[in-house]
Amino acid sequence: MLAKRLAQVSASPTLQVAAEAERLRRAGFDVVDFSAGEPDFPTPAHVKNAGKAAIDANFTRYTVAPGIPELREAICARYRQDYGVDPAPTEVLITVGGKQALFNVALALFDPGDEVITHAPYWPTIPEQAKLMGATPVIVTTSAGDGFAVHADAVIAAITPRTKAIILNSPCNPTGALIDEQAVAAIADAAAPRGIWIIVDLCYEQLVYDPVAHNLPKVLFARHRGRTVLAGSASKAYAMTGWRCGWSIAPKELTAALNVIQGQSTSNITSITQKAALAAIKGPQDAVFEMLDEYRIRRDNIHAWLTAHPGIRCEKPQGAFYLMPDVSGLLSPEGIRTSAEFAHALVEREHVVVVPGEAFAAPGYIRISYATSMDRLREGATRMLRFAESLQPSGTGAPR
Ligand code: PMP
Repeated sequence: MLAKRLAQVSASPTLQVAAEAERLRRAGFDVVDFSAGEPDFPTPAHVKNAGKAAIDANFTRYTVAPGIPELREAICARYRQDYGVDPAPTEVLITVGGKQALFNVALALFDPGDEVITHAPYWPTIPEQAKLMGATPVIVTTSAGDGFAVHADAVIAAITPRTKAIILNSPCNPTGALIDEQAVAAIADAAAPRGIWIIVDLCYEQLVYDPVAHNLPKVLFARHRGRTVLAGSASKAYAMTGWRCGWSIAPKELTAALNVIQGQSTSNITSITQKAALAAIKGPQDAVFEMLDEYRIRRDNIHAWLTAHPGIRCEKPQGAFYLMPDVSGLLSPEGIRTSAEFAHALVEREHVVVVPGEAFAAPGYIRISYATSMDRLREGATRMLRFAESLQPSGTGAPR
C-alpha cells in the first residue's frame, strides 16, 4: 500500500515511553517527565509581543517562500556577530524548525545509493531522513569514555566513493557533547577534495556551558564554504519550539533548490512566527543567557545527584540540556537486561520517564532531559536513586 521509501524508516522510538507515561498520568499518578526535548521556559515576553503585534497589524498573509528578507538579514547579522562569518540573505532559507531545514537538504542532496555519514549516539531524525531519501546512513560510533568525542580519523575512515555528505550535530542531542574545531577542520579537509557536503545541525548552538572554542561555522566557511550547510533553529535558544522556526544557511545554488522544494511543499513558515523570530534573533539576547545559566545549575545538580550512585556513570556534558548516563552497571541477565527494560521499569515503578538509549543507537544508556524545574529534577533523581538501589549490580546474583 505504501511507497517503498517508507520500508526502511522507523517512527520515533520515544513514543512508546511517552504513551506509557500518558497512561499513568491519566490514571492520576505523579509522573516526573525527563523525556522532553524542549525548554520548559516560556517564550520571552518581547518575542511573544512581536507575535501579537503581527496579528494586530494583520501580518497574516503568505510571505515569500524563503522567509521575509528582514528575518534572513537578521540571521546573517547574528552569524556575523556570533561567529565572524558573512552569509548572504540569498543563502538563508527560513524553515518550519531545524527539522524542515534538514529535511529540505536531504531531499535536495541525497539519492538512492548515496551514503551519508553521521555519528552515534544520534538524534534519530538524522539517519531516518537519509533513509527516507533511499540513502544509506553510515554510523560512526562515539563512546562515553572520551566524552562522546567525534574523532576525525574515524569519520574519514568511513568515507567511500559513495559518500555524499557528512552530518554533524554539535552540541549533540542526546549526548550534550561538542565537536572539536580541529576535528571539524580535519573532516572538512578530507571532504573538500572529494566534493562531500558537510551539514552541521546547530540546533543547540546557543546552549554551550563553558567558554570553549566552538566556532564551527568559521572553520567550515574558511575551508569548505561551497559545500557547507548550517541548520539552525529558534526552538531551543529562544524557547520557541511550538512556533516552528528554523533556517538553513547553504550556498546560493543549493538554497535556490531548497526554495523550490519548500515552495512546492509548505511555502513560507507562519507569517506571525517570522515576526516573533525576528524579535528573538535581532532583539536583546539576555533571555538566552538567563536560560543558559539556569540550565547550567540544573545540569550540575542532576549530574552530581545521579553519579553519586556507583552504578550510574556519566561525564558532565558541555552543551544542550541532556544527560546521557551509562546504566549498564545496573543491568543483569537475570534482572533488567537492557536500557529499554530499564526505562520501562522506571516508568512502571517510580513513574519517571526517560528515553532509553536504544532510541539513539546507544544501548546501555538512558537520556535525561534537564529542561525541567529544579524541584522536579530533585524529585526524579530521588526516585531514580531508589530505583537504582533496588537493582542488583550486574553479575551479582538474582533479580529483586
Ligand atoms: N536537531 C536536533 C539535534 C534536535 O534535537 C532537534 C529537536 N529535537 C532539532 C534539530 C529540530 O528542532 P526544531 O525542528 O524544533 O527546530
